[in-house]
Amino acid sequence: MSQFVKPNVFVSDCLEFSHCRFDGSMIPNDYVNRMKPVVNIIHTCPELAIGLGAPREAIRLITQNQEEDRLVGSIHGTDHTDSMSAFSANYIQELKGMEIDGFLLKAKSPSCGAGDVKVYRGIGKAYLESARNDGMFGRVIKENYPDHPIETERRISNYTIREQFFTAVFTLADFRTIKSNFKYKALVYFHSKNKYLFMAYNQTLLKQLGNIVANHQKQPDREVLQEYEATLRKLLHSEPSKQRRVNALQHIYGYFKNDLDTEEKEFYFNALDDFIDFRIPYSSVLYILKGFAVRFKQEYLLMQTVFEPFPKELSITTDSGNKI
Ligand code: SF4
Repeated sequence: MSQFVKPNVFVSDCLEFSHCRFDGSMIPNDYVNRMKPVVNIIHTCPELAIGLGAPREAIRLITQNQEEDRLVGSIHGTDHTDSMSAFSANYIQELKGMEIDGFLLKAKSPSCGAGDVKVYRGIGKAYLESARNDGMFGRVIKENYPDHPIETERRISNYTIREQFFTAVFTLADFRTIKSNFKYKALVYFHSKNKYLFMAYNQTLLKQLGNIVANHQKQPDREVLQEYEATLRKLLHSEPSKQRRVNALQHIYGYFKNDLDTEEKEFYFNALDDFIDFRIPYSSVLYILKGFAVRFKQEYLLMQTVFEPFPKELSITTDSGNKI
């Protein structure tokens, strides 16, 4: 069984933790529930933190005369902008000391939302702006953590987005432990065990990471780590396209192509075609290849994170069908 470093993930408090929504409710969320044993969750409610109660008057983002959005009570118009800005600035400093690996925010919230929040032209019955925006706290998170995985509970109901989110936070948590007690050997091992995972994301960046680890210029450790981390974050932001995944699968298959019999080869290539034609998921083809790795005792492949980039507890195949 793989050992995973527990990532530190901030989660909006109303997702599984607190009845802190404007109507006094909490939102049950299966993914957050499954994260609890395998992730260090840091959670808070910005609206309770600025002194609002639950239940309370709903608040909204408004914009007037092209000015910056303001956060106000939707009926009485009480302005919470300054208190939310002050809270966000202070709380970010607290988070900075916690080595956060990722964020899971409540979608559409005028405080926590990220990119999907309605903006009104006033209080009460008011027109909506056509563009959506970040919530006030969500915006501060995005500004301070531009390279971190930031998702909402709504977006991770999509299988692909969820897989990428969990892959990123667990990979970054693992890398964080290398940074905290740097040993060159550990970085080489990290790079080596992630080779096929990274290949499926971006082969060019995989090569760049390899060059950074090789360190032909004899850079100091600190610079190697900084450069590696920046490139790793870029890679985890990129999209593991189907073509790149097929490329990674074919590289893994290359380890066995001389040892498999005709039926086994046919079985693998049928599965590959099924994946290409959307009939089975990527993980099914990987599972076949892992079976070959077990049979031929391919230790180098068996340590590859591509077969299990995050704990099984979080591997749920459900999909909202929501492209988002
Ligand atoms: S979305 Fe954010 S501010 Fe709103 S209830 Fe949830 S945690 Fe609190």
